[in-house]
Amino acid sequence: MYKLVDSHCHVNDIQYKDNKEEIIKEIKENMEFVVCSGWDYDSSIEAINIANENDNIYASIGFHPTDISKITDEKLLELENLAKTNKKIVGIGEIGLDYHWMTDEKEVQKKFFRMQIELAKRVNKAVVIHTREALADTIEILDEYKDVYGVLHCYPGSYEAVLPILDRYYVSVGGVLTFKNGRKTKEMLSKVPIEKVVLETDSPYLTPTPFRGRINKPIYTHYVAEEIARIKEMSYQDVIDITTKNAYEVYKICK
Ligand SMILES: [Zn+2]
Repeated sequence: MYKLVDSHCHVNDIQYKDNKEEIIKEIKENMEFVVCSGWDYDSSIEAINIANENDNIYASIGFHPTDISKITDEKLLELENLAKTNKKIVGIGEIGLDYHWMTDEKEVQKKFFRMQIELAKRVNKAVVIHTREALADTIEILDEYKDVYGVLHCYPGSYEAVLPILDRYYVSVGGVLTFKNGRKTKEMLSKVPIEKVVLETDSPYLTPTPFRGRINKPIYTHYVAEEIARIKEMSYQDVIDITTKNAYEVYKICK
């Protein structure tokens, strides 16, 4: 019998500056493990530090599409070297495309997305994908790299859209699934086999119902699991056992 995994959260976020120890204690006492994700160089280093200090916290590192202007060759090389040597780094991300904020032109975003996918390929780690209003381009690029695998964090699309890469990717769902207006996500989830699903919070963001509007935290993965159990008509423990096993597999974490 497994406990819950939060496959994507930001314990390294400034919003936890006053209660980080409490959040980490809750994770240790209640969860199988969590993956703390960076979004730029500093937050990636912070994610690694937190992972190094805590047994069941792992790190994913990389530059979010709205932070690619901060990329330098030196920083990328340093992250790559860290990923090669540190077993607590289990993913490259969050990386991807964001056509909502459009901080950089599409072509620039694609270039740095590809660069980081290739980095993940070299270090043989999962990619953790952020995609917003850019789904078709995201899937198209991921489909080019047949030997890269990973997690589609807060996957916003349909079952049909993800199908071409579902052999190598896990769909990660979080608080959006519990929202009243989360119909699209609920419908997608009802079709994706549970063997291809992992759970997340994206905390401190996207707090699930019934805590919407407050600061999210990793243990709220519980509400996502409950909603999946309802949608898929499975037991709560089966949802945990299968999605936790999936998370162990995609992040190649040995128990
Ligand atoms: Zn995130």
